[in-house]
Amino acid sequence: MSSPPVLAVAVEPSRLAAALVAPDGTVLVRDRVTMPSRDVWRALDGLVRRVDAAGRDSVVPFAQVAVSCVGPVDEQAGTVTPPYVPTWTSFPLRDHLEELTERPVLLASAGAAAAEAERLVGEARDTASYAFLIADATVDSACIVDGRRMSGAHGNAGSLAHITVDPTGLSCWCGARGCLEPYLSSIALQAELNRPLRRANPSTIERSGIMLGRAIASLCAMVDVDTIFVTGGVIDAFGDTLLHVTRRELQTRSRLSNLADLSIVEPVEYISSLVRAASLVLGTSAPAGPEVTGSPTAR
Ligand SMILES: [Zn+2]
Repeated sequence: MSSPPVLAVAVEPSRLAAALVAPDGTVLVRDRVTMPSRDVWRALDGLVRRVDAAGRDSVVPFAQVAVSCVGPVDEQAGTVTPPYVPTWTSFPLRDHLEELTERPVLLASAGAAAAEAERLVGEARDTASYAFLIADATVDSACIVDGRRMSGAHGNAGSLAHITVDPTGLSCWCGARGCLEPYLSSIALQAELNRPLRRANPSTIERSGIMLGRAIASLCAMVDVDTIFVTGGVIDAFGDTLLHVTRRELQTRSRLSNLADLSIVEPVEYISSLVRAASLVLGTSAPAGPEVTGSPTAR
């Protein structure tokens, strides 16, 4: 009898997704729905039931559930407060999923899941200390230090989204001013620019690059990582120009000799958010062979 799959769930501002993921990272069954404006749990409940039912005849029953949610999360309480989902404030997602599936549920931020996946099936397999940042609808990140993911009191250690990069800068959804988030989140940028990101002015891209460079410099001065992986729709849209500015800013802000070799890397292969979520429980024993694509459009 083959090993049981993981039921992976991903909560993003624009959609809910669920899948059965085999221990080698192969997606066996998947489904998704657009994020509804209300009754979010009812939509997720239905989605999970559909994925479970679709796999029932062909797949060994899943033994665990792994859920990633855009941060911040509260891993201890098992609650989530995803930005731009107003009906979910401190929502007890872990309890709801445990009750629904009658299986143990592991919950973490999207940044944590992405950082775990990159060392499990991605390009960080030989890197002991790194940060992983997603600049997509929102900004999420996490740090792996000496082979272990930093977690913290609530599971948000290593998060760059709300580092202050400009004290008098843009307002953030969190209520503060000058966080990295509004400079690097596609939702915030599109609201500010009122146009698609690919048509952003060079000055906007330059500004985002500077702010990302500042945030990375602050993080790395405190957390001694040597690689920063960056990915997501904003990185794709702003392209090499953004990362060129980020590296230039980092060089200006980060003068410590131990950070001289710090590198910013854009992973070639995109790991889907569902494989990322599954990575939270698949651990380091899973062999190669994940569902990856060369193009972020396959997300
Ligand atoms: Zn903020």
